Amino acid sequence: MRNKIVAGNWKMNGTFEESTNLFNAISERKDEFPKSVEVMVAPPYLYLKSLKDQKVDDVVVAAQNCADKEKGAYTGEVSVSMLKSVGIKHVIVGHSERRIIYGESIKDVSEKVVLVLQNDMIPIVCVGEELNDRQKGRHFKIIEEQLDSVLNLAPELFEKVVIAYEPVWAIGTGETATPEQAQEMHRFIRQKLSDIYGQLVQTTRILYGGSVKPDNAEEIFSKPDVDGGLVGGASMNADNFLAIIKAAG
Ligand code: PEP
Repeated sequence: MRNKIVAGNWKMNGTFEESTNLFNAISERKDEFPKSVEVMVAPPYLYLKSLKDQKVDDVVVAAQNCADKEKGAYTGEVSVSMLKSVGIKHVIVGHSERRIIYGESIKDVSEKVVLVLQNDMIPIVCVGEELNDRQKGRHFKIIEEQLDSVLNLAPELFEKVVIAYEPVWAIGTGETATPEQAQEMHRFIRQKLSDIYGQLVQTTRILYGGSVKPDNAEEIFSKPDVDGGLVGGASMNADNFLAIIKAAG
């Protein structure tokens, strides 16, 4: 009913040559992708156009971030319309590294979500609690607050939103949420969204992110409310990424 998505977030890694080689190594194996899985990679901004111009339809090229303003005197920022002008349709928004390291607020994330949707593009909206929040039993509350960024949208806009649940304590740490913890939170997210959007939410993809690897992907992806993964470290190696893509099939 919901096609899975496996998206690789390359973060601030790789030279142009290394990123092009990685993209080629993944796209050369596109015939091995399960038909039901949408494959995406999110390279650094600087490489987006070149990789997009390779026109590999089976590997969607996404942005890792965008500005919360439309245009103007915002040195160093990249707007949604700039991304759109080079053919990008998907943007990761509100990654925990943006929230924690760069101080992005829930309001900032909301503004980005609206800009992406208004430009007829698809936001992949990350939510996730820190270890401290989970230890204190506040994880559901934190996620509920972060979901605020997608709760005031017209249904025809909300329809395009993809959510990524990424517990911060599992990102880049080698520690993964158990499949049961992931399912529990994904179910909670779907329930909260359905309080507002009703049946529409049955088609909303909710990805899991946090140390997904070839050896844990299949079990996590088998959970009913887990619709694929947002993968950091393991997406930087074509063999590992392919194994994760296959695990989603
Ligand atoms: C991420 O940064 O989105 C991520 C999930 O990273 P990792 O897979 O390395 O934990």
